[in-house]
Parts: sequence; C-alpha cells; structure tokens
Amino acid sequence: MNNSSGTSKGAIHCSFCGRGSSEVTNLIAGKDVYICDICIYTSADILKQNSTPVAAVTSKSKKTALLKPSDIKSKLDEYVIGQEKAKRTLSVAVYNHYKRIKSQSISGFLEEVEIEKSNIMLVGPTGTGKTLLAKTLARILDVPFAVADATTITESGYVGDDVETILVHLLQSADYDVEKAERGIVYIDEIDKIARRSDSQSITRDVSGEGVQQALLKLLEGTVAGVPPRGGRKHPEQPLVYVNTKNILFICGGAFDGIEKIIARRMNAKTIGFSYNSQQNVEESDALLSLVESKDLLKFGFIPELIGRLPVIAPLTPLSDEAMLDILTKPKNALVKQYQKLFKMEECDLHFLPEALMEIVEKARNRKTGARGLRSIIEEIMLPIMFDLPDKKNIKHCTINKAVVQEGAVPSYEAVAEKQASSNKVKKALK
Ligand code: ADP
Repeated sequence: MNNSSGTSKGAIHCSFCGRGSSEVTNLIAGKDVYICDICIYTSADILKQNSTPVAAVTSKSKKTALLKPSDIKSKLDEYVIGQEKAKRTLSVAVYNHYKRIKSQSISGFLEEVEIEKSNIMLVGPTGTGKTLLAKTLARILDVPFAVADATTITESGYVGDDVETILVHLLQSADYDVEKAERGIVYIDEIDKIARRSDSQSITRDVSGEGVQQALLKLLEGTVAGVPPRGGRKHPEQPLVYVNTKNILFICGGAFDGIEKIIARRMNAKTIGFSYNSQQNVEESDALLSLVESKDLLKFGFIPELIGRLPVIAPLTPLSDEAMLDILTKPKNALVKQYQKLFKMEECDLHFLPEALMEIVEKARNRKTGARGLRSIIEEIMLPIMFDLPDKKNIKHCTINKAVVQEGAVPSYEAVAEKQASSNKVKKALK
C-alpha cells in the first residue's frame, strides 16, 4: 500500500464514497482501489461497535487500571484544597465514566444495560477551583485535557458547527492522536453565560445563548464531529478531523451569579437581606449553593435537554481565609513552594512569616476573585525582590514580613557571614 494524498495523483477518487483527492486529507491506494481517511474513520467506528468482546478489548483498556473513587479523591486532595463535596462527587462520576468506557469493550455481562454518559456541571464562584479540579482530574487519569470558553461560542453567533471548535484544543493536547483525544476531558468555562435569562439586559445574548445550548447538546451526548484541525470556522474545502465525542468527558463550570436566590425560593427560605453583605448572609448563601439541583439550573435559564446531558452537579463553595492560607502553602505545587524553589536555585532560603501570608490572603479577599488573586498578589510582591536577588552576593536567607506585602518594604536579608556569625553565637551561648 502506498499513501497518496492531495492533488499529487490528479483525478483519483475514493472507491467507497467517491470523494476526490482534493476533498480529503489522505487517499490510501490499494490494488486498483483507493480509500479516503473519512471512510477509514467511519469503517473503524463500525468495526469498534460490532466487534466481538475479545477483539474489542484494546490493549489500552486492558492496561489502564481503573482508579477507585477514594484513590481519585486522595490524589485530588494533593492539589485542591477544601471543596470536599465537589471532590467526592467528581471522583465517583469520573470512576463511573471510565467504567462505562470499559463496559463498552467488555460486553457480555448485562449487555442490554447501557450506562449513560455522566457529564458534570460545576457550580461555584470564580477562583474556587473549578478549572483546577478538571485539570487535575485529567492529570491524574493521564488523559488529554482542554479548556473551552462558552462565551467565545456565543460570540460566533448561533451557527451550531462552530461549537465543534471546542475540540480543537483537545486534539492539540492529544498531539492529534484522535483515539487519545476521544478519551479526554474538556472543561467548558463560563457555561452560565449562555443561559437564557428573562431579565437579561442583552436581547442578542438571549437568542444566541439558547442557540449555543442547542448546539452543545449533540457534542455532550456523543456525536462524530468534524473538527477543523487548526480551529476557526469550517469551510467546504478544509480537511476535517473526525472526532467521536461519545467517550469524552465534558465538565462544565460557571459562577451562576444569583442562583442562591433561586435555590432559596425553592427551599422556601427567606431571601430578604441578601443584598446586605453581613457574615450571616454570606454563610447562608454558601449553604444554599451546596444544595443546588438541576431544577435550579432550569430556572436559571438552561434548556431541559442540556441539563439532562449534565446529570452530575457538584457545588463549590467560596474559600475561607484558612483555605486560602492552605492554598498558598499546602498543595504539591503551592505558590510559596514554587517561589522557594526559584530562590533555592539562587542558593537562598525564602521564608514567609505567617503575618505576611495573612496579609496576602486579606488582599486577595478584597479583590473578590477567589484564590485566583493570590498569584497576582504574590507576583507583585516578589517581582522587585526577584529582580534584585541575582545581583546580591552571599544572601542565604530572605524573610518576607507583613510590611513587604503591605507597602512593598525591603525584606530582611541575611548574608552568609551574618548567618554563620549568628549560628556561632548560638553555639557559644549553648556551651
Ligand atoms: P475557577 O473556579 O474560576 O475555575 P480556578 O480553578 O481557575 O478557578 O482557580 C484559579 C487558581 O486559584 C488556580 O489555578 C489555583 O492556583 C487557585 N485555586 C483556586 N481554588 C483552589 C483550591 N480549592 N485549591 C487550591 N488552589 C486553588
């Protein structure tokens, strides 16, 4: 067999579908016959669906041991602080998702029972770890991962095809290995922005929002989508890569501002006083958020079909100061640890005093962007210090106190000699 593609062979056609070489990416030549990439893909799909149990168990699915929900949860704990309910819900949903994929290949047992796909909806304020959870899951499971933004789909209008560009990044993250991409995870951010809202200020958003919801349906449920490999809009001459979304796990997330009121109304709870920012109301609204159900999403402006395709709902709550402090220091790749590593490379020990960390948290809280603010605040503080450090000689110790965070004061440095001297002093005193 040889591989002839594009226009090099002139007027050759696929012997199966009749497409010309200019209409497809590849035409494989056999003895007096040709087959195009689209037909190969379609045939492979038919074979996959009809194959015998033994043949269908691919070497890959045999090899990948299924992580138990408790394993997934404890791995998530290494990177994500708090959000216990979301972590537990996700662990079970992901476990079932990959079990479902396995069950497709190991047929025979309860064959008639088809496990439905369980895409996930994450509901919680900005900067509380929604993207981080999805990303960490993909990392734990070692599957390709991509983030898409629902609002960019809205902007392109309500032509359904454009929704498929969501898969472009997934393909890229799988190095264009379609089979790998087909087992990946896609996180669709800002899903709440495509809700149809009766009280919306923007009339156009109303229409396109619902249009995008409709277009997302198929993708979420499972379809063979033609994806323009380099993104952008599809056009007739463009070669497409065909991706089956049946086994792709879609995790959608959004802040859903104001959903607490909907939940409260459903729960028949008092909503009076929500506009006040008293501690009690904040706590009340957090508690309400964790009771979110599909009915509330419906009220929020999602079409029932879309909600039906996102059967798992996991709430995330705002982060407490304590959780923010932990985020700074505890996760495997915590911000403080990252800076300490950078300083270590300059042979300097970096130390943050607890008062400095508290001040960083305080600043982040005022920005109201959840833990997302932590990084930019720490970066602002560290920039001048990192700028100067390589020029300073023999600095062995750098301590960040409250004043450094508050007013950009110079941190306290300890040079090699000083350190030696002070440790000698201590030794002497101990004698
Ligand atoms: P969003 O909920 O808006 O998707 P992200 O997951 O993007 O928020 O969070 C932004 C950043 O804040 C993350 O990259 C991470 O560094 C930090 N972060 C947010 N929530 C948590 C959390 N629960 N545990 C650890 N880090 C977090």
